[in-house]
Amino acid sequence: MKTFIVTGGAGFLGSHLCDYLIAKGMKVICVDNLVTGSEDNISHLKDNPQFKFINHDVTNKLDITEPVDYIMHLASPASPIDFTKIPVEIALVNSMGTKNMLDIAKEKKAVFFFASTSECYGDPDINPQPERYNGNVSTTGERSCYDEAKRFGEALIMAYHRAYGVDVRIVRIFNTYGPRMRKDDGRAVPAFINQALNNEPITVFGDGTQIRSFCYVEDEIEGFYKLLMSKENFPTNIGNPNEVTILEFAQKIIDMTGSKSTIVFKPLPQHDPKLRQPDISKAKRILGWQPKIELEEGLKRTISYFKRRS
Ligand code: NAD
Ligand code: UDP
Repeated sequence: MKTFIVTGGAGFLGSHLCDYLIAKGMKVICVDNLVTGSEDNISHLKDNPQFKFINHDVTNKLDITEPVDYIMHLASPASPIDFTKIPVEIALVNSMGTKNMLDIAKEKKAVFFFASTSECYGDPDINPQPERYNGNVSTTGERSCYDEAKRFGEALIMAYHRAYGVDVRIVRIFNTYGPRMRKDDGRAVPAFINQALNNEPITVFGDGTQIRSFCYVEDEIEGFYKLLMSKENFPTNIGNPNEVTILEFAQKIIDMTGSKSTIVFKPLPQHDPKLRQPDISKAKRILGWQPKIELEEGLKRTISYFKRRS
């Protein structure tokens, strides 16, 4: 039985990852300070002997006495509304937090996996974005606490790899959705679904022509694991390349929920990317991975999750 540390394991992606690893027979130490996560997401694992929860802020040193095989560092708020509320915490968990986890990986000779982001590409000049694209990112804008911290995280990881031989993986995650997203985290999927279920106006930012490509969580987690088990040290995009404009997306949710909601247009947040679509040729080639779950199916499952909670 291999031992994993999953930071951010009480969050949306982290809790699905914990479930996936437990189902594979692994031992999981979930480390989370619950700043944006919730114990509800992991309550079903509480009594499982393969699972342990440590409430800890990873920007502080973490003492782990037992051997560890893999560290998967997912801790970081990821919602644009948090970029204005807690920018310092976001910058630090991806820099200091990454350093603390890398030090454990170095000491334990564990494989280190980092949840990076498509935000490393900023507001891209090319579409889709391949891993070799170096991005168009503001170093000082409102999103920079997140984008630039993730970019620094990637740089620090490659430095540990080159200087100390730490075995590393970096996934660049594109917009992922599914059950356990926070209802009020301000991201388009939970916002639109909950507005639609309550017959409230759907808040489309800007004119809604901006493009996103949404990946269902089950596909994303499968991609993480395939990347972890590969030998690839350089960043790899994992996401669903199916594009949709935000206006079409809002309309789709209204149709699927049978809602009476209307669409209202609100100001576009600063540096909101106009385009975002993963080029997944590398993941297909080296991992044999591609998403399987269609948007309609993923949305059906997500809508039913939020219906159960409303
Ligand atoms: P989330 O907010 O649901 O999960 C993040 C978790 O990290 C939360 O449980 C939170 O409490 C925890 N956390 C934050 N700071 C911490 C700290 N200092 N110490 C310990 N725990 C801390 O977000 P998510 O959508 O599940 O994102 C998980 C990871 O994936 C993040 O690193 C994020 O940047 C990355 N990511 C997500 C997406 C997406 O579409 N969901 C896209 C790109 C990248
Ligand atoms: N968005 C929107 N209305 C909302 C929330 C988000 O129009 O209530 C837009 C947002 O401006 C962005 C897209 O939907 O263009 C996806 O936003 P999200 O916050 O889900 O993820 P991002 O791509 O910004 O990381």
